[in-house]
Amino acid sequence: MTEATPQAAAVLAVDVGASKLAAAIVGADGSFARRREVPTPAAGGAGDVARALTRLIHEVAGPAGAAAACGVASAGPVDVAAGTVSPVNIPAWRDYPLLDLVRVAAGVPAVLGGDGVCAALGEHWLGAGRGVRSMLGMVVSTGVGGGLVLDGRPYPGPTGNAGHIGHTVVDLDGEACPCGSRGCVETIASGPSMVRWALSMGWRPPVPADGRALATAARAGDPTALRAYERGARALAAAVVSAAALADVDLAVVGGGVAEAGQVLFGPMRKALDEFGGPSFVRRLRIEPAVLGRDASLAGAAYLALTVDGRISREE
Ligand SMILES: [Zn+2]
Repeated sequence: MTEATPQAAAVLAVDVGASKLAAAIVGADGSFARRREVPTPAAGGAGDVARALTRLIHEVAGPAGAAAACGVASAGPVDVAAGTVSPVNIPAWRDYPLLDLVRVAAGVPAVLGGDGVCAALGEHWLGAGRGVRSMLGMVVSTGVGGGLVLDGRPYPGPTGNAGHIGHTVVDLDGEACPCGSRGCVETIASGPSMVRWALSMGWRPPVPADGRALATAARAGDPTALRAYERGARALAAAVVSAAALADVDLAVVGGGVAEAGQVLFGPMRKALDEFGGPSFVRRLRIEPAVLGRDASLAGAAYLALTVDGRISREE
């Protein structure tokens, strides 16, 4: 994506995450302009996050007329029908009326999507999923999120949370998950879960034990770090095969900080996919790395706003 002058068909895209708030003007051709990002006020109250977001929107939206509408992606759970969000890692916001805040701050009509759905949609529009009919998008980082594009359209479900693959169960006797279930993909394949498992198996990094250190160790051939990635990759592959059996998707696009480890994750994930097999229609499924990085959710949010009243037509 290249920086470009905002155009008549441009929209404002906003991404609300636990660690960052981002916004940009996005054209109907997928061009980004005025992209800005600020840290999400960590320990603040509901008002602190709201003020930081309002400031960012004013800064990016600029003079009236730069954007015709606004699309906002938010960490979940979301309730797109009510326009509210309750992000797990922004405790001050519970059933918070985010859509109202954005409408007022931006002064244009706004539409809300979950960040998993928006990331999938962004990769489908401008990234690794271009031209594919149906895909699952996954974001593997401190948690494991996801979203579905089916028959060229986002499938958010009634509340906007469909495709949240991190809370599909891959181990009936597994670790308890904060969601209340047990053996969810997230308890095995999220960055912190893999680090915790590696430490429990005797991994002793020379630097603070985080996902980056684990990736470095795995690339250097540390056997315990490699096993942690293999274990995470198998959990992700099991979930992908289940999702493909359920939704008949052609492609799984995997992004997020953990996916940036590259081959140490994708190698064992593709191997596990071959091992698990699945019914014949699942075997055409491919796994590809995401390409939009931190802009995937912004791109998807923009696409929601661009298509909501037909500024650009949906791919069929
Ligand atoms: Zn769970």
